[in-house]
Amino acid sequence: MIVAIDGPAGSGKSSTARAVAARLKVAFLDTGAMYRAVTLKALRMGIAFTDDAALERIMPQTSIEFEGAAPDTRIIMDGEDVSALVRGDDVTKNVSDYCARDVVRKSLVEQQRFIASKSSLVCEGRDMCTVVFPDAEVKIFMIASVTERARRRQKDFAAMGIDKTIEELEEEIAARDAKDSSRANSPLKKADGAVEMDTTGMTLEEQIDFIVDKALPFLS
Ligand code: C5P
Repeated sequence: MIVAIDGPAGSGKSSTARAVAARLKVAFLDTGAMYRAVTLKALRMGIAFTDDAALERIMPQTSIEFEGAAPDTRIIMDGEDVSALVRGDDVTKNVSDYCARDVVRKSLVEQQRFIASKSSLVCEGRDMCTVVFPDAEVKIFMIASVTERARRRQKDFAAMGIDKTIEELEEEIAARDAKDSSRANSPLKKADGAVEMDTTGMTLEEQIDFIVDKALPFLS
């Protein structure tokens, strides 16, 4: 069984998907973290996002694995736990450029389908319902207002000891939305058959219950 969740940054996908996976006792696949890991590697190696030849070379040499049960799943790249590093500012600002490259998407989509062939899972990203798993049993398109999303990000940053204004975060979120929705390759959009869920004003518990209720009938 696959529960596929798409939505823009800060819509609540990640925390909701992790908790849903934990509740259903199935694996959790954070595809944004995979794009972030590749971005981290490329930045470390000084590979520009426009350098498709170099990106094509590093993709087969990059191992990405997930360790641990949801909600505490960690991402391991080439044997290194990069869970915290992939959330850094530099990666966040650059990931939309790297993830738009065909060579990167082709390779990661293949890996995501392989992971899903082995067990039931909850996955989240931008193209889960539209491209990667169009036949998923549960398809959700999660949205929230830009201000609400900026507020959530501000909280996340504060927990990491980083101070950012709402205005600054609204601008960053709007810029990333624009790139993710307008790119030619797998743009962020609601898939046919996906249920739209506006999480503005919803509690995390309500978001989890909503999806768990939809998934339970498919769990054998
Ligand atoms: O969800 P998260 O913010 O971690 O995703 C990081 C970036 O990876 C997004 O801005 C988006 O550009 C990209 N992404 C994607 N396709 C996915 C998941 C994430 O293009 N399935």
